[in-house]
Amino acid sequence: MKKIYGYRIYHLKCLSLQKICNQMNILNFILQYADELSCRKKFKDFRDKQGVICPKCGHKEHYWKKDKECYECKQCGKRRSLQANTVMHGSQLPFRYWFIAIHLLTSIKKSFSASEIQRQLGRKYYEPVWAMVHKLRQVMRIRDEKYTLSGIHELDEGFFSTETEDDEKIYP
Ligand SMILES: [Zn+2]
Repeated sequence: MKKIYGYRIYHLKCLSLQKICNQMNILNFILQYADELSCRKKFKDFRDKQGVICPKCGHKEHYWKKDKECYECKQCGKRRSLQANTVMHGSQLPFRYWFIAIHLLTSIKKSFSASEIQRQLGRKYYEPVWAMVHKLRQVMRIRDEKYTLSGIHELDEGFFSTETEDDEKIYP
């Protein structure tokens, strides 16, 4: 029983990007995610809390290769980027753009179009921004259907972790 309790608390500690973004206004957001480095660091914290699982051997312990900004499996040596198997998989856009897009899409009670987000980010090309917004909307749709956005998860589970509605009811 105690273990289950601890597990739930652990999940609660894994506050989601969305929850964090929701709790802050634009000024706090800018302060907390002032630059690319702080966004990367925050994203890595999320992944570390969530736990990284090697796609090759299933091992759960990894070295963090700071110079290459990637994880290396302690068992088989397979490396993977910070974005691998997350909603950012394969994206060339900076982390901060993702954070800003999530903030815009989840914190502001207005429906932002991809072209408006492109304008806000000052990006020349529409396609990468559209792809980002499209992926985030997919994740948000999964959330609406089944999950709550809470923490970052492997992409095959929808990227964001899957805290259940029951957890929320017990710990609102
Ligand atoms: Zn491995």
